Amino acid sequence: MTSVRQIPFFPWVALFEEHGDEYLEIIRECLQRGAFILQRDVDEFERALEVYLGVKHAIAVSDATNAMLLGLRALELKPGFEVLLPSHCFVAAAQSIHFAGGIPVPIELGSDWMVDPVAMEKAITPRTRILMPVQVNGRTANMDAIVQLAGSHGLIVIEDSAQALGATYKGQSTGTIGRWGCYSFYPSKTLGTFGDAGALVTNDDHIAETVRRMRNHGANSEKMIEAENAIWGTNCRMDNVHAALLKFKLDGYPAAIARRRAIASMYQKAFFDLRQLKLPPGPDSDPDRFDVFQNYEISAERRDELREHLRERGVGTIIQWGGIALHQMRGLGFNQSLPSTDLFFQKCMLLPMHHLLSDDDVLHIIDAVTQFYAD
Ligand SMILES: *Cc1c(COP(=O)(O)O)cnc(C)c1O
Repeated sequence: MTSVRQIPFFPWVALFEEHGDEYLEIIRECLQRGAFILQRDVDEFERALEVYLGVKHAIAVSDATNAMLLGLRALELKPGFEVLLPSHCFVAAAQSIHFAGGIPVPIELGSDWMVDPVAMEKAITPRTRILMPVQVNGRTANMDAIVQLAGSHGLIVIEDSAQALGATYKGQSTGTIGRWGCYSFYPSKTLGTFGDAGALVTNDDHIAETVRRMRNHGANSEKMIEAENAIWGTNCRMDNVHAALLKFKLDGYPAAIARRRAIASMYQKAFFDLRQLKLPPGPDSDPDRFDVFQNYEISAERRDELREHLRERGVGTIIQWGGIALHQMRGLGFNQSLPSTDLFFQKCMLLPMHHLLSDDDVLHIIDAVTQFYAD
């Protein structure tokens, strides 16, 4: 029996091996310097991120979920405020809203699979304060429509851009369009470290200052806790060693994104004519958007059979977020009826997508998918 090529959905082990010696050297250097918490590596990573994104402030924090929690609290809204966000999203954004005293309201997805601004407008109530697009899969929602809608109703726009580091919309970095955005450096994200880490970005000085203090127990820029000017804070610091690793990885990031986009092109060309699949827009299909392909999410007829067929051929796939849309989490009290999102979740799945896939891997995946629908 010939052995089957194994292509896991995500290459957890290969992630370290890619630059193992360099990573160990970076970690050793930090440890030998005694640089564990909020040392120069955090500052240097933040400045590098600001330059890369073209944003005034980047604040390194423990993870994207807490970046959103702090960002929401820094807006100083009265509890009970409603936040409109797509139901096609990770529960983390909704959790941050909940813990910040707000009410997440899941919204229907549009034909582009991003949040539908028309459905957002219909869901606005007197309690609505925030529109929160989620930049799913490294794509960018229709920000012109969302920003305009927010402007006409006096609402704030914030972005869950955890999946979209380096994406752009009309030349502007996704995550820097609203009042603030966040990124996740969870290992399987486009820019991942070897543990949890995240960042909040903003062009708003007051939000930046507040989040910077809140991540470190309210301490000021001299890392001192003040009496008269004390504010409520918590501990959401990024570990210094993660900042050092991320600063190194950021240098290779544009090449990693270019590789993801090349893989997306291969999928796009190979699957374009398959009527049983619906694909995301190809990497060069929209002059207004530069997508980073955190994920390659497709909608597939006979999805579960296709996944089983791929599994037998050594190809790992997943259904994003365990196959559960936000509004389907009845245990959290949601009761919306969102038929387009329900339908999407019956067919959606992710094919392997990361910069370490070889052309041979991609061709193997393409063959396996094409063969399934040829039968
Ligand atoms: C990964 C992710 C998050 C959470 O990021 P953490 O750093 O793990 O907290 C939030 N939103 C989206 C869309 C994500 O993909």
